[in-house]
Amino acid sequence: MTESAALHPDILRVLITQDELRVRIREMGRQISRDYAGRPLTLVSILKGSVLFLSDLMREIDIDCTIDFMCLSSYEGKASTGVVRMLLDLRESAEGRDLLVVEDIIDTGLTLSYLMQNLKTRKPASLEICTLLDKPECRKVKVAAKYVGFPIPNEFVVGYGLDYKEQYRNLPYVGVLKESAAK
Ligand code: 5GP
Repeated sequence: MTESAALHPDILRVLITQDELRVRIREMGRQISRDYAGRPLTLVSILKGSVLFLSDLMREIDIDCTIDFMCLSSYEGKASTGVVRMLLDLRESAEGRDLLVVEDIIDTGLTLSYLMQNLKTRKPASLEICTLLDKPECRKVKVAAKYVGFPIPNEFVVGYGLDYKEQYRNLPYVGVLKESAAK
């Protein structure tokens, strides 16, 4: 967090500062640019949580790439329902493209496991995951992310795109939500 940004009253503590996000996302962008040089890369952003991450990450990628969006839902409030619904699908064909799924956070892994199975059937040239946050302790199904920004403990976080009941997405840092705010 920069010195001028005040901590939101519903945030218990900042887990990842703006500066830490910037530095790590720059590293991830460079790595992706090296790994996908000369390939038809499509960043598949999972709405809505990954939009801030996508917009910063893509500016750190210096090879040609396209973006597309999907929207999946498995969460209500602070808990995964375990039932994944697709609310919005890709606009472009995935066939023959190198797809890199850009996600905000992996928790149980149920959402991405469903998504990866679904995307595999569309015959992409390759299919990988890039997640900003990972809670490895919470995994119910195995999901392998090629790029992970920050492994984090099992706490409910908001900010930098992540919400609680659609709030807090605009916070410039990732913070732990106070129990009193999660009503
Ligand atoms: P999974 O299917 O892996 O359990 O959950 C993935 C989705 O759950 C994420 O894309 C995100 O929307 C939501 N989620 C999981 N953990 C958190 C969290 O700590 N904070 C917020 N805001 N959303 C979370």
